Order: sequence, then C-alpha cells, then structure tokens
Amino acid sequence: MCGICGYFGAEAVKKVCDGLKILEYRGYDSCGLAYVGDGKINSIKTLDGVDELIKKSEGLSTEMVIGHTRWATHGAVTLNNAHPHFSASKKLVMVHNGIVENFKELKKNIDIDFYSATDTEVFVNLIEKESGSLIEKVISASKKVKGAFAIIVLSERGEVVLGKRETPLYLSTGEKGVCVSSDVLALDGEKIYALGDDEFASIENSKILFFNKNGKKIVKKCEKIEKNMNFSQISFKTHMESEIFETKTALIKTLKKYKNEDIFSLIKLPKNFKSVVLVACGTAYHSSLVGAEFFKSIGIDARAYVASEFRYGREILSEDTLYIFVSQSGETADTIASAKLVRARKLCTLALTNTPNCLLNRVCKSVLPTFAGREVAVASTKAYCCQVFSLYLFSAYLAGKRLPTVQTLKKIPLLEFPREQVEDIAKFEKVFFVGRELDHLTALEASLKLKEISYINSVAIASGELKHGTLALVDETSIVVAISTEKRVKEKLRSNLEEIKARGGKIIVLSCFDDFADYDLVKIEKFADFLMPIVSIIPLQFLALRVAEQRGFNPDRPRNLAKSVTVE
Ligand code: GLU
Repeated sequence: MCGICGYFGAEAVKKVCDGLKILEYRGYDSCGLAYVGDGKINSIKTLDGVDELIKKSEGLSTEMVIGHTRWATHGAVTLNNAHPHFSASKKLVMVHNGIVENFKELKKNIDIDFYSATDTEVFVNLIEKESGSLIEKVISASKKVKGAFAIIVLSERGEVVLGKRETPLYLSTGEKGVCVSSDVLALDGEKIYALGDDEFASIENSKILFFNKNGKKIVKKCEKIEKNMNFSQISFKTHMESEIFETKTALIKTLKKYKNEDIFSLIKLPKNFKSVVLVACGTAYHSSLVGAEFFKSIGIDARAYVASEFRYGREILSEDTLYIFVSQSGETADTIASAKLVRARKLCTLALTNTPNCLLNRVCKSVLPTFAGREVAVASTKAYCCQVFSLYLFSAYLAGKRLPTVQTLKKIPLLEFPREQVEDIAKFEKVFFVGRELDHLTALEASLKLKEISYINSVAIASGELKHGTLALVDETSIVVAISTEKRVKEKLRSNLEEIKARGGKIIVLSCFDDFADYDLVKIEKFADFLMPIVSIIPLQFLALRVAEQRGFNPDRPRNLAKSVTVE
C-alpha cells in the first residue's frame, strides 16, 4: 500500500518530496528518501510524516533520489523498518510497494545480519546476490519472489532500475528529468508510460529502456493518461469534511456525465443476461450490497461478495452473469485479483471506479466511472455516495426507467448530526447501528465509518437479529443508533427498538418518519426510495467525523489504515 517515487534530474529532492506529499494517502507510518552523493548512498527517514522529511532534507542537492511513504506490512512502525532499504554492502538501495510472500524462505539463504524486519530488505539483498548488470540482477531476483511488488532500485554508481507486478508503477519524462511514481497524480512530466506486470525499466541519463521478464528489450508507447482529477480542495479543517461537502457536486457531475456521454450503452452485457455479482472490499462492499438491492428491485438476481473471500471462494461463475468490481481507487488488490479470475474465464466484467486509468479499469472489459473527484481522506464519503448512485442509475438504465434530474439532487440536504447527540455518542465505548433492509446496509456503512476514525467499538446489525445474540451486549455502557427510511418495515423496527428500550438501552433514531417522535429523533427529509441510502448516510458520515474530532483524532489519518489497499 506504500507509495514509491523517484526523480532523476534537476531539483530531484523537491520533486520527490512533492510526489511523496501526494502519495502520503497510500500510507503514513513512516517515510524516507535515499540519494546518491559523493559516490555513496545516503538516506533520510522519519516517522513524523512528509512535512518533517521536507524539513530534514532542506538544502540537499542531488540529481538521483528515490522516496517512499509506508504502510507497514512486515515489521513494526520503526525507523529501522522505514524505507528506503539498503543491501548489506550498502551499494544498493530500494523502495518497495508490495509483499514478498516467500520472504522467510528467501531469507534463510541470505547469510547476513538483517537490520530490519521487512520483506523489502530480503528483496534488495536477493538482488545484490544475483550476477550480471543491475537490470539482470533485478529481473532474476524478481523471478524468485512470490507476490506483488513495485520497486525502484538505485546503485551507488547512479544506476536506476524499476519493475512491477500486480501493483501500479508509472514513469514520465519531462524537461528536467525522469520521474517514477505509484500514482500518475504524483508524476512530473508530460509523456507518461505505464509499466505492465513483470516489466522492468532502466534509466540512464534521462534515457529509459524497457525490458520484459526474460530480459529482452521491449518498446513501450507513451500513453495519454488523464491527470486532472479535481484535487479535493481542502476548504474545511479536514479532507473528510471537505469531501462530505463535495458530495452533491460529485453526484451531479456523475449524473450529467452519464446523461451527456451515454456511458451505459458502452457497457458490454452477457448474452443471456440474468444476474449480477458485485465484488468489493470495505466501503465499496457496502455500496455493492445496496447496488444488489437495486438490481433485485428490477428483477435481476444479484449478490455482493467481499473480494478477499470471492477470490479464494467456491462461487460458480456463469456466462449469463455480469460481474461488477467496485473500488474507489481501482487499485484494491483483492478486487483486482477477483476481476482477473473472472476475466480469465472470458466472462463479462465491469469496473466501477473513481480513478481514470487505474489497474481495475485495465483488467475489466467495461468501465463505469464515477466522477467524485479525488478522495483523499481514508474514510470514503463522497465516493461511497457516488458508487451507490451510479449502481442505481445503471439499474434504472437497464430497466428503461427515466433517470433522476439534477434538480432533485440539488435538494439533497447535507445534514449535520446534531451536536448534542454527537457529544452523547462520543462518550460511549460501544455503539450499535441497527436498521432493516436498505437501512441495515446503511447501518453497516455508518458503523464502519465510526469505528475506522473514532476507534469506538461499533457493530451494525439487522434489527430483527438483535435478539438472537447481540442484544446480550446492550447495557448502560452502550448506545443504539437506529435508521428508519424503509416504510414497509418501520413498525417492525419499532418493535425491535421497544425490546431494546425494555432492557434499558439508550436509543437515537435517524428517520424520515414522525412515528419515532417519542424517541430521541434526528429527522431527515423523505426522498425517492433509491436516494434514501445517500440522504441517510450523509448525517451518519458527519456523526463519525464529529465524534472523531470530539475524541481528539485526525479523521483523515486513522491509525493502522491507508487509503488504497494494494496488498491482500
Ligand atoms: N512490505 C513492505 C513493508 O512492510 C511494503 C509494504 C507495502 O507496500 O504496503 O515495508
């Protein structure tokens, strides 16, 4: 999940630091850079973020720099484990995104004293042990490595080699030099090249040579890759707050694009189209669950799966199914692996992503983009709403229904959860989100949001299920947030709330119905059913944000997490 970056040319330190600032969303456990100076490799590392790294590297001038921002997979968050990592002789240094799955096995055959607990240090020493030129060493070491990787290797002689497998890596050439990065947004330069799986490159005096896994030179064309993704302007205290406020603009943009560019007609559907399978992780899994309900409501059988389960599961794949893979970044490792599995069977695959040119788009047959603009905060908000909306619009298109108007979207309120209730909830160590049908799915997302940024132990459950076990946990140390926008089952939810009340549980209800006026009620406006998952999640996203602030946490940087999950 780390971000890697390198610059080879004038102002390299500044370019790499600028790049790392953009890549910091990929991990912020530690960061560092390495450079060649006075014929040897030096490094600067910190646990205090890229701004600190910039301070520490002030005044440094060199034309060969590689940098890294880390989301630890192997080895604790310490300076020793921070990248870049050196080989034993200190003649090579490397930044790495990915996991060397067989690192233990490889480590046994490398007889040195390892200074870190990372798999990366094993990889760089494996490279050092190989023979031949640096590019030959990297290619043959990569053959021995199991797992996904993107790497940049720098030698004390100023040689640069990079390569990748199943995680992104891009290069660009500009007037001042060559730039390498995990994300096109962090590239400096006009001509952009996307490295393919098991492809490698060497850079010498601004000249790039590309190689395949057999070490044969290959020709790669530069690509037109869209870079202007509307960087989420931070107009509020945090990215998360800014991004919630951008929701309406994002929905409107998505609707307009779909209407004006006829995007749906380009989606390749299976011949005897009968069912939909959605595959995703985290928040995108929750939007998939909602999406499945939209498809079912128009008579198309639909199911949603967690990607890390789907990829190793026993799902029977079928030709009459459209497989939709949902991921904001389009880089989520488990979702990509699942898509590859289905694509290998030549079945219909559709990527629903918010990032142009992402890996998932390249793997799938068709692409359904959302236009939420760049999302930086780890906790997804506007992108979730766009995924839900996009899946609804697609189902409406399939059913031949009229799409909603921009006017309707403009009316969606960006409602804050009332301060008094926020303060109340922030005091509890256990929160239960309950609801039925679509409200249960909103509860799942609300609960994930709250736990990921406020660290409160929160559980979401279909309210009818409470008495089958979870009710035992409800006591004076817990609070229940009930969601009710589903008319059909509102009486049923009410009965469940009475059961909680009878056991002394504290309850707050978020609802568009007056029926709950005798409860602590947060009233929301009633819109068409398909919009209610969006209308109701917005105050709950605010709830998570404000509770995190109240408890003194930075909602943009929750502990242990990173924005795009490029490792499995
Ligand atoms: N495995 C490396 C580490 O733990 C890189 C992690 C990653 O890319 O997420 O440092």
